[in-house]
Amino acid sequence: MTDKVSHLVLSVLPQVVSTDGVRAMMESALTARDRVGVQDFVLLENFTSEAAFIENLRKRFKENLIYTYIGSVLVSVNPYKELEIYTKNHMERYRGVNFYEVSPHIYAVADNSYRSMRSERKDQCILISGESGAGKTEASKKILQYYAVTCPASEQVQTVKDRLLQSNPVLEAFGNAKTLRNDNSSRFGKYMDIQFDFKGAPVGGHIINYLLEKSRVVHQNHGERNFHIFYQLIEGGEEDLLRRLGLERNPQQYQYLVKGNCPKVSSINDRSDWKVVRKALSVIGFNEDDVEELLNIIASVLHLGNVQYGGEEGNACITSDTQIKYLARVSLRPQALMSPLNLEQASSARDALSKAVYGRTFTWLVNKINTSLTYKNFSVIGLLDIYGFEVFQHNSFEQFCINYCNEKLQQLFIELTLKSEQEEYEAEGITWEPVQYFNNKIICDLVEEKFKGIISILDEECLRPGDASDITFLEKLEDIVGGHPHFVTHKLADAKTRKVMGRDEFRLQHYAGEVNYNVNGECAFVPTVMCMSENKILTQCFDREELSDKKRPDTVTTQFKASLAKLMEILMSKEPSYVRCIKPNDSKQAGRFDEVLIRHQVKYLGLMENLRVRRAGFAYRRRYEVFLQRYKSLCPDTWPNWQGKLSEGVAVLVKHLGYKPEEYKLGRSKIFIRFPKTLFATEDALETR
Ligand code: ADP
Ligand code: MG
Repeated sequence: MTDKVSHLVLSVLPQVVSTDGVRAMMESALTARDRVGVQDFVLLENFTSEAAFIENLRKRFKENLIYTYIGSVLVSVNPYKELEIYTKNHMERYRGVNFYEVSPHIYAVADNSYRSMRSERKDQCILISGESGAGKTEASKKILQYYAVTCPASEQVQTVKDRLLQSNPVLEAFGNAKTLRNDNSSRFGKYMDIQFDFKGAPVGGHIINYLLEKSRVVHQNHGERNFHIFYQLIEGGEEDLLRRLGLERNPQQYQYLVKGNCPKVSSINDRSDWKVVRKALSVIGFNEDDVEELLNIIASVLHLGNVQYGGEEGNACITSDTQIKYLARVSLRPQALMSPLNLEQASSARDALSKAVYGRTFTWLVNKINTSLTYKNFSVIGLLDIYGFEVFQHNSFEQFCINYCNEKLQQLFIELTLKSEQEEYEAEGITWEPVQYFNNKIICDLVEEKFKGIISILDEECLRPGDASDITFLEKLEDIVGGHPHFVTHKLADAKTRKVMGRDEFRLQHYAGEVNYNVNGECAFVPTVMCMSENKILTQCFDREELSDKKRPDTVTTQFKASLAKLMEILMSKEPSYVRCIKPNDSKQAGRFDEVLIRHQVKYLGLMENLRVRRAGFAYRRRYEVFLQRYKSLCPDTWPNWQGKLSEGVAVLVKHLGYKPEEYKLGRSKIFIRFPKTLFATEDALETR
């Protein structure tokens, strides 16, 4: 039995107190303020009550206590203001200290993973989830900073630390954008491995990116922006650079930047961010040529967006050649754009091309960062910063992928946490009592099963020549998965559901709740025309083989399914920790706790289920020597010292305390206590002794 596993299943943090008189259970440096509500939801008397859960969250949030545990899962509420809890002093406080001896903190999670990795030589991963604006990316940055400050360093290590840290501004410039929900919203999912050598120093890293929101390159909703880099380049780029790229210093000139009508954001300084990004690029090892080629592509996307079509019906042609002059520099041969299309087709081909170019350049950038971070086969801690469940009024293919990803992560959560719980019981020789929970495998299968899963059906339809369309796709779904308990369409639904569904939608009953997906435009085509570019980056991005008919291209969904499968494999081989982020309000305001919004997130993050599973087993467990040491004074037979076997001492002690047989179990090296209240009573006895 390892310590880490005990943390995973440790459900009661002993120092926790609730306002109803339960006191601190261990000496600790906590102040009274730290003890608002319960620090671990497992200690809630009424643990099945969502209202009690939210009330505890609210009480703590009002006191700026943004972190609370569910066992070893950290729940974090975005404070939307700078809190004085991330100083070097704080880092020191959490360094090498057991989870339950200090108040909940993201540093405790970081430190716990680090110590487990070192002491057990087992790879770790920290999974951060939550909806947009909930604080995932900030949490992952805090973890990275924690390692950068607290881990041993040498000169070579410093370079790696710098590169790991500097990869953030670069990826954020190209992959983040201002949205209505977050001024710096990551529009891609990210998994990052940090590698440590035998001394525990970070010596390398590796990043994998998921599902960049490419549609943003060509279109932004009102009040939103394109990716930061476009504005940074235009606002901050040096005069002669802009001249070389043929750009004007005015975002309003570019079709791809005007859709959201929001070129400036008060919380963002594009000009100074540009400097940060340029510096970061050079720290990561980009030379001037690399940077120039990269910016050439960014500029060419803007020029491409300004290409206008005119001409006769069914035969669109480009009306001005200013843009083409600059585009030709990335060798987008003009004739490549000349095939008989109508105006609408021509514009959509242009946009598809822009998205493909940008998307692949982003992946190239990630790969380039990876080559700058050496990757050796040492112990690793992985950080996953990925979008949580998304449910909008209108949910498209993108939400489908994101939510599918969350189903897979929930599967992993079930596999890993319940498995480790079971393993501990086995190791301790305690009869395993199965925990009742909803296993969402049935939904994963519905989505991903070969031949008869939704992705397979979608593939078939997209790749089928001829009359395939969104509606035939929907009909096919009804044919093949129509009877599935987690699937319904307008046609198949009962009268009540039908009212809230469109005819072009299907509904999935996810583990977290139901979502309607719109099938319009699911069968999008992928352009494959960039192979003849002379831009070094683009030639690496577009593979000539794609042009040959022999290679049947994978659809985006299939690619995503494969990359998710790989991610699951990576995570399965590691010991997980979880951070669940919650956004307190929709207006990015400090101190505002919007209960409706939070209830929604508690549901979609599966927190109540999480807590129930935690509580179903034993709430508290402690090694015999620790338990005996703490409570031996409560029994004349164990005081001042117990001479015999530790397990027997504990047996004598709890008998004396009046524990009932159903309240506890004795394992090989630990006592397991089922309910928090048993332990609270013992703690009370200690106080009033
Ligand atoms: P997400 O990645 O989940 O979409 P972010 O991590 O980008 O969300 O957070 C959105 C914004 O919320 C940040 O830009 C920052 O202003 C604020 N924020 C998030 N976490 C914290 C925190 N721990 N302390 C202070 N502000 C935070
Ligand atoms: Mg983010």
